[in-house]
Amino acid sequence: MCFPCCARLPACHCCRAATPGVDRRFTASRIPPCRIVSPRPLGVRRAGLVERGARVTLYERENTLGGRLAGWQTELSDGSHVTMSRGFHAFFRQYYNLRGLLRRADGGLGMLTAVPDYPLQHSGGLYDSFAKVPRTPPWSAAGFAALSPTFGWRDMTRMDPWAALPLLDVRVPEVYEQLDSVSAYDFLAGIRFPEAAHHLAFEVFSRSFFADPRELSAAELVLMFHIYFLGSSEGLLFDVPDEPFSQALWEPLSAYLEGHHVKMCVGTSVDTVEPDPSGGHRITAGRRAEHFDATVLALDTPGLQAVVASSPHLADASWRDRIAQLRTAPPFLVSRLWLDRPVRADRAGFLGTSGYASLDNVSVLERWEGEAARWAARTGGSVVELHAYAVDPAADRNAEQERLLDQLHRVYPETRDARIVDARHEWRADCPLFPVGGYEDRPAVRTVDPTLVIAGDLVRTELPVALMERAATSGFLAANALLERWGVRGQVLWTVPRSGRSRLMRLLAGLAS
Ligand SMILES: Cc1cc2nc3c(=O)[nH]c(=O)nc-3n(C[C@H](O)[C@H](O)[C@H](O)COP(=O)(O)OP(=O)(O)OC[C@H]3O[C@@H](n4cnc5c(N)ncnc54)[C@H](O)[C@@H]3O)c2cc1C
Repeated sequence: MCFPCCARLPACHCCRAATPGVDRRFTASRIPPCRIVSPRPLGVRRAGLVERGARVTLYERENTLGGRLAGWQTELSDGSHVTMSRGFHAFFRQYYNLRGLLRRADGGLGMLTAVPDYPLQHSGGLYDSFAKVPRTPPWSAAGFAALSPTFGWRDMTRMDPWAALPLLDVRVPEVYEQLDSVSAYDFLAGIRFPEAAHHLAFEVFSRSFFADPRELSAAELVLMFHIYFLGSSEGLLFDVPDEPFSQALWEPLSAYLEGHHVKMCVGTSVDTVEPDPSGGHRITAGRRAEHFDATVLALDTPGLQAVVASSPHLADASWRDRIAQLRTAPPFLVSRLWLDRPVRADRAGFLGTSGYASLDNVSVLERWEGEAARWAARTGGSVVELHAYAVDPAADRNAEQERLLDQLHRVYPETRDARIVDARHEWRADCPLFPVGGYEDRPAVRTVDPTLVIAGDLVRTELPVALMERAATSGFLAANALLERWGVRGQVLWTVPRSGRSRLMRLLAGLAS
C-alpha cells in the first residue's frame, strides 16, 4: 500500500517491498492469536496485523495508551482540568510510515497542524531558521550554510572538506560500519565545523536523541543529516497534534483498533514471555498465563530488559545478554508552566535553544494546542513548556527545575514578572541511548525465534528512520515478519532513500573512500 502523500513526493522511496505473499486476510480457521505488548506506535503492530485479520491482544503496563506520548488528566490550582504529557513532539514530514498509521484514524491527518518554522537561538545572539532554506537537495544543505549566520566565509575556509565528504552520500546501513565507532562530537570536530554551527544546528540534532554528543554515535547524527538535508525534500519543517496526544491520537486510534476487534488490556504489565513447547509463547500478564502463536515486544528499554530478564528461555542467551546491556540516555526534564500573563505575541510556538545551560527548547503551547489555547484565552495567561535533555543524573532536581526557569527568563524576559499559576515537572530516563560502537548490539526486528519480533525506537531497522518514525517503521516491519510466516502480504513501507540522492554528491563522497 502506498500512502497518497508519499506517491507525490520525489524524495520518497519504497524501501522494502511488502512481505512476499498473497494479498489476503487470514481465513477464519487460520487466524493466529498474536500477542502485542505496548501501545506505541499504536497501530503499528496492530494495524499491520489486525487489518490482515489476525486476532490481536494488546498489553499496556500504564493505565493509558501512548507510551512516551501518553497524556493524563491533572487539576491546576485555579481549578482547571488539563492534560499533562511529556509535551512537545515534532511530527516531521519525512515520517511517512507514522503518518500512514495516523491516517488510519483520520485520512486527512486533520489532527496535525503545521508549525511555520524551526527556529534556533544561541545565547550568544545568533539565530537560525529553516523556513526560508530551500528544501530540494543539495540546495537544502547549501542554502542552510549560505543563510545561516553560524557559517561565515572565514569559518568555511577553515573546515576540512575531506572529513565532511561522508555527509554527501549517507548509505544505510553502511553508515554504521563507517561511523558507529566515532562520537558525534569527534566527527564534527574533525570537520572543523564553525563552533557556532556545531552548537546550534548539530548539537540540537544530537540532543534530540537525549544524549551528550560525546557519547552519541556519529552514525546517528549523520543519519539525521541525511534524513533532513540531503535525503529528502521536506526539510526541517514539522507538524504537531492540535490537541493533547490522548485526544488527537490515542482515542481515535484505539477506536480504530477496537473496530478491528483488538483486545485491549490497558494497565496490565507483561511479566514473562516463555517459549511454549507446542510453538509460540506462554505469556504471563496480570497474574494470568495465556498461549499465543506469536509475540511482538514493543517496549521501552527498561520494560524490554525487565521482561527478558524474567524470561530465561526467550530467544537465545547471547540475545538476552545484549538486551541486558542496552543503555538508556541520561534523565531529562519537561517542565510545563501555566503563567498568569502571555508571552510576547511574536514568540514562536517552538524554539530550539543552545548555550542556555540545560535548556534545549521552549514551546508556547497555546500557539498550536487547542486545550492550551482555550486555557490561555480564558485566563489571559500562557502555557509554556521547557525541555532539558541529558541532565546529570546526580543533579539536584529542584535546583535543575529552578535553573531551567532562570533560562526561560533569559530567553523570554517578559516571563520574569509572570506569576506561575501552576507547574508540572516530569523527570524520566527511558529513552534509548545509541552509544559509540553500540549498533551491533541493538536488537533487530527479527530474533532467532521466528515467532518473536521486536519493535520500538531502540530497534535496529537498517533504514533511514529515527525516533517516532523508527518506532512506527519497526512496528510495521515486525508485523510484516509475522505475516510472512503465514504467507500473507504485509505493509509496503516508505523511507527517504537509503543512499545519497545526487549523482554528483555520490561521486564526491566516493573520493573520501
Ligand atoms: C520529551 C520527549 C520529546 C520527544 N520529542 C520527539 C520529537 O520531537 N520527535 C520524535 O520523533 N520523537 C520524539 N521523542 C521520542 C519519541 O517519544 C519516541 O521515539 C517514541 O515515543 C518511541 O515509541 P516506542 O513505541 O518505541 O516506545 P514507548 O513510547 O516508550 O512505548 C513503550 C511502551 O511499552 C510499555 N511497557 C513497558 N513495559 C511493559 C510491560 N512489561 N508490559 C506492557 N507494557 C509495557 C510502556 O508503558 C510504553 O507504553 C521524544 C521523547 C521525549 C521523551
